[in-house]
Amino acid sequence: MSETVRPMLSVVVPCYNEEEVLPEFHRRITAAMEGIGASYEVVYVNDGSRDGTMALMLAMQAADRRVAVVNLSRNFGKEIALTAGLDHAACTDAVIVIDADLQDPPEVIPELIAAWQQGYDVAYAQRSVRHGESFIKRATAHAFYRVMQRLGGKVQLPRDTGDFRLMSRRSLDALLQLREQHRFMKGLFAWVGYPSIAVPYERAPRAAGTTKWNWWKLWNLSLEGITSFTVGPLKIATYLGLVVSLLAAIYLAQLLVRTIFFGNPVAGYPSLMAAVLFLGGVQMMMLGIIGEYLGRVFNETKGRPLYIVERHLPSA
Ligand code: UDP
Ligand code: MG
Repeated sequence: MSETVRPMLSVVVPCYNEEEVLPEFHRRITAAMEGIGASYEVVYVNDGSRDGTMALMLAMQAADRRVAVVNLSRNFGKEIALTAGLDHAACTDAVIVIDADLQDPPEVIPELIAAWQQGYDVAYAQRSVRHGESFIKRATAHAFYRVMQRLGGKVQLPRDTGDFRLMSRRSLDALLQLREQHRFMKGLFAWVGYPSIAVPYERAPRAAGTTKWNWWKLWNLSLEGITSFTVGPLKIATYLGLVVSLLAAIYLAQLLVRTIFFGNPVAGYPSLMAAVLFLGGVQMMMLGIIGEYLGRVFNETKGRPLYIVERHLPSA
């Protein structure tokens, strides 16, 4: 962070193995930001890349005083890399969060700025079309937003929204107060609140390189979203238990009546087995749900820092 003049705007870019797109990204972000005319910096966060990403960042930093570089000590994952970048953003007025792979077009930034200048604290880019993503991915994403909307309670997640957004300095400062380890950023953004507006755009396919996501990661992200956002699933145990006990009570009453009036022909081994296995399964599932929450409590109580910075080269 420069002691003398701080830029009005910061652009935060988490990067993991992005050597293929980074030069093109830098060209386009520079063009977009210069067009705006305000002072700005671009904070590149190297999230433990194993390719030439860091060397590229250092070269860009040497060539352009508006570039800052935060090098993390290893790969921490996108959410934490993004947080590291936000922590190091020197901006006085607003910060823009954008992916390096050009799926979030830098050309949308002027529209985000225009929305912010109308008095909104948060202008989030909302996908109107998803190119290059399979039908199944779109369908599951849609289902996920539905579930979250049901479970979310007071905090509502905007649909079809990623991390691509502009935040005023005060909403950034509010966000930076949330230091939990399990960082479901969309949930954290929504939790902060403040007047927000959606800016629609067309999401492009990745310009180059490969996505670091797969189904297992997406599933885990959904789990993260649900468990760090709501204790709703814990209630399932209560109600399921209640329903099962009620059914069991009715069954027992029926059994008693039958035995009293008609005697006991001793059958029912299969139904007994079925009931035992069913209840065993339900109990294990519920233990699993409780375990998901307990694991998160465990991780939070360790109170570790979110990330370790290997090197920070501020913009000037
Ligand atoms: N990213 C990161 N750390 C990671 C994975 C990804 O900083 O461990 C960055 C990546 O370089 C990119 C952004 O996060 O700028 C989004 O990643 P990606 O395009 O793989 O995700 P998707 O667009 O599929 O959500
Ligand atoms: Mg991407």
